[in-house]
Amino acid sequence: MRSRYTAFTLGDANYLWQTHHPDYRQGEAPQSSAKEDLGQWEKLQIIFSCDFKDGQAGMVEFKAHCREQSQRQILHERSNFKKVNERWFYTDGEFAPKALARNSACPCGSGKKFKQCCNKS
Ligand SMILES: [Zn+2]
Repeated sequence: MRSRYTAFTLGDANYLWQTHHPDYRQGEAPQSSAKEDLGQWEKLQIIFSCDFKDGQAGMVEFKAHCREQSQRQILHERSNFKKVNERWFYTDGEFAPKALARNSACPCGSGKKFKQCCNKS
């Protein structure tokens, strides 16, 4: 997750492609390893993260702060990851997700309340 954020900050579209789960990719692979303008990323804030299915899947909710044409933007996403051959791959995500109630069931499926499980805040 952090390495994908770093790739965004570096404009490394190739790395982002390679860490995107093959079943979930859309469009074409980047043509070259040349850096692309993916915006200016300033800060990554992790809201929570959890692993589940014996560490074979994970979820990370984050806010990434970036600047586009001098406008401050915040990308708020809850991303899903799957592990393949001991490597994490991004699958998909939900943009601007609703906040999880502290007493609701944890999204990791543990059966515990969110506040007693993956909630980090
Ligand atoms: Zn959990």
